[in-house]
Amino acid sequence: MKNIKMQIQKGLDKGKKTFQFDNEHDQTKPAEWWFQNIPEGLVLFVVFYTQACRWGRCLGCNLSSKSTANHVDYKAIVSQIDYLFDLEIIQKKRSQIRKVIVSNNGSVLDQETFSSTALMYLMVKLNLTFPRLSTLCIETRPEYVEIEELEFLRRSLNEGDTPTKLELAIGFEAFDSRIRNKVFMKGLSLNTFENFVEKVARYKYDIKCYFMQKPVPGMTDKEAISDVKSGIDYFSRLAEYHDININMHLNPTFVAKGTALAEAFYRGEYKPPSLLDVIISALYSENKKLSLFIGLADEGLAVDNGSHINDTNIEMIETIEQFNRTQSYAILREVLWANLVPVELYS
Ligand code: SF4
Repeated sequence: MKNIKMQIQKGLDKGKKTFQFDNEHDQTKPAEWWFQNIPEGLVLFVVFYTQACRWGRCLGCNLSSKSTANHVDYKAIVSQIDYLFDLEIIQKKRSQIRKVIVSNNGSVLDQETFSSTALMYLMVKLNLTFPRLSTLCIETRPEYVEIEELEFLRRSLNEGDTPTKLELAIGFEAFDSRIRNKVFMKGLSLNTFENFVEKVARYKYDIKCYFMQKPVPGMTDKEAISDVKSGIDYFSRLAEYHDININMHLNPTFVAKGTALAEAFYRGEYKPPSLLDVIISALYSENKKLSLFIGLADEGLAVDNGSHINDTNIEMIETIEQFNRTQSYAILREVLWANLVPVELYS
């Protein structure tokens, strides 16, 4: 346990993080949870409160500020699961829920921070509670994904009332290896990622890759668009080759409090990407073997003015939400026309 704490602290030191952990949160309640709508129905997104991500150093990430430095044992996580499933609203909507996304602001498949017993218990509760569950999405770093776990999850999901697919959601963040690993400090090689894809492809499960537009200072807006396009090409090739579904979850980078990105922002060395630029990038995924979702949440973690997702962009945000629901590229194109963006930038 002490070793894990040391690993967490080492990561935060390397990433020059200045935020504090949330050590005071009630260990018997999840960190947070909310509903989302997708064309298929209702999504339940739950973030369990556990020990922080062991990697911890990624440049713009302050997710650990919603976790604790201390070990959270399986009994506490089981209590969080019970708390969630006993909520009246969950019971009321149980037959509407088609997808559950499970996060702990780190890696759910890292057994050091998310207990295996608690994961097994969660699977039992999911099967018992949601009769129409079609997708279970688990957030994790790819190196924690083991064939044995996929096999166990497959068997458990097969026992549910309805066919349920697994989706593994990982943070990829940037295509350029130097930016991803040297500047952003993601610690993710293409080799590790491709090994992960191979494991998941054996089961024909889905993959979601979180990707950031303009994740670091020193990138021009044009370079940021070009990096997303390279990511789209790369994921499409892999999806084609393995015949699996890959979803790019494209997040316009926001400036997270207590990070090195925030320092750069205050020094005037970083500006978040505009939503128009994000739309230009997203349009590139049209007719590719890939689905794309544009992330619109900063979960209250951004510094003031550190995000383009704000009240001044309401119309564009509504359009993006509509795109997320429908995957209609025509509506994205209309926004670019209306804003007089030269066609050569996105055709
Ligand atoms: S982005 Fe993910 S892997 Fe990186 S520090 Fe944050 S939670 Fe950990």
